[in-house]
Amino acid sequence: MTRTDPQLPDTNAPIVIVGGGFGGLYTALALSQQRQHPPLLLIEPQECFLFLPLLYELLSDELRRWEIAPRYDTLLAGRGVAWLQDRVVSIDARQRSLRTAGGRDLSFGQLVLATGARTHSFGIPGVVEHSLSFRSLADVERLQALVQRLRSEGRPLQRLAVVGAGPSGVELACKLADLLEGAAVVELVEQGAMALPQARAFNREQATLALQRRDVRLRCGCRVLEVGADHLDLHSSTGQERLSVDAVVWTAGLDFAPPPIEPEPQRDRRGRLLVEPSLQLRGHPHLFAAGDIASLDAAGNGSSDADAAAPPPPATAQVAFQQAGSLAENLLRARRGESLEPFRFQDLGEMISLGRGEASLVAGGFTLAGAAAFQLRRLAYLSRLPGRPHQLRVAAGWLADWPR
Ligand SMILES: Cc1cc2nc3c(=O)[nH]c(=O)nc-3n(C[C@H](O)[C@H](O)[C@H](O)COP(=O)(O)OP(=O)(O)OC[C@H]3O[C@@H](n4cnc5c(N)ncnc54)[C@H](O)[C@@H]3O)c2cc1C
Repeated sequence: MTRTDPQLPDTNAPIVIVGGGFGGLYTALALSQQRQHPPLLLIEPQECFLFLPLLYELLSDELRRWEIAPRYDTLLAGRGVAWLQDRVVSIDARQRSLRTAGGRDLSFGQLVLATGARTHSFGIPGVVEHSLSFRSLADVERLQALVQRLRSEGRPLQRLAVVGAGPSGVELACKLADLLEGAAVVELVEQGAMALPQARAFNREQATLALQRRDVRLRCGCRVLEVGADHLDLHSSTGQERLSVDAVVWTAGLDFAPPPIEPEPQRDRRGRLLVEPSLQLRGHPHLFAAGDIASLDAAGNGSSDADAAAPPPPATAQVAFQQAGSLAENLLRARRGESLEPFRFQDLGEMISLGRGEASLVAGGFTLAGAAAFQLRRLAYLSRLPGRPHQLRVAAGWLADWPR
């Protein structure tokens, strides 16, 4: 077997995983549990993994930074996974090599792309320059500083706008309203006809009530034309309007920018990498993708008629987490020359955070809202935190703080 054999993976070369989020880190952890696993390298520019579904609780101080953002060196210590703190800038699929921003050229036997998504500005003027986003630890710090400023200045008619009433926008608007305690009006601006259009009906109803209880002003059917330093230009059925704002938080839409790959792989219309049901990139037998960047379109989603009719799985941590397990198995099958298994998404339900100490969830025909749902959501995510040692550390911290 030679390294440039077009069909067979080089079993001496490492599996390289690009991106240490839900898709990438959990693939590395699943592979590391195999007794004789191949050499593994994770390339990720950030120092800490970020458990994004609990970012709201970091903003509201209900959870601590180390709990939802453990360091990669701690998570991977003693697991046989090397971590390179760097960013991949190009990939040569034929040569099975990649280049990093730090100037390293590295070879791989198989490559996993799990570079996730970014906030999408849709080219709307002022979004990049004047709005805040909510995806990183730095974003949390900026928002905490903003809340602090609005609370201490306490000027009349202070206003904060959250754009996008998908799960992120709704969850964020509820937390911000609780943190502001009336120091500013929170507006939630949505282009579509309703908040949470994709959510389960129970969660949507609970979210609507949670927004109403907090006086969050939900403006549906409202398109953002421009974001300014102190205003938002909107268009709705009643015409155009300029809204004075102290800040805008942009949560609408996702953009996908994997590192450039030669020869260029097929992408879907949103720019995501089209993958086979096995999570292999189409036409690239040694390249795989997981998480938000991987597109399983309806036509390629599974091998049976039932699978083909199923809608593609959503861009969620739940999907990325499940793909990681399936992908780890397929990487090893490919190395052994065995046929690969299709990924099948198992929908385990939906949970949303709705302000301090409140949540709503739907799982297995069971619905729950309020404080009990908040605690159950926390517990459910505890079992999804990366690695048993980190789960135990966090659980011990919660028990020590009980009731918190
Ligand atoms: C605020 C927020 C709340 C959310 N809440 C929920 C929720 O409650 N439930 C749910 O199921 N989903 C939720 N999601 C969605 C979920 O977090 C994503 O679907 C999930 O993180 C996708 O995993 P991923 O591995 O594809 O990407 P990510 O987890 O985003 O990880 C991508 C990683 O790739 C790295 N990277 C990017 N480019 C490169 C490069 N060129 N080289 C090397 N590394 C690179 C990034 O630094 C990042 O660490 C939420 C998302 C956000 C933003």
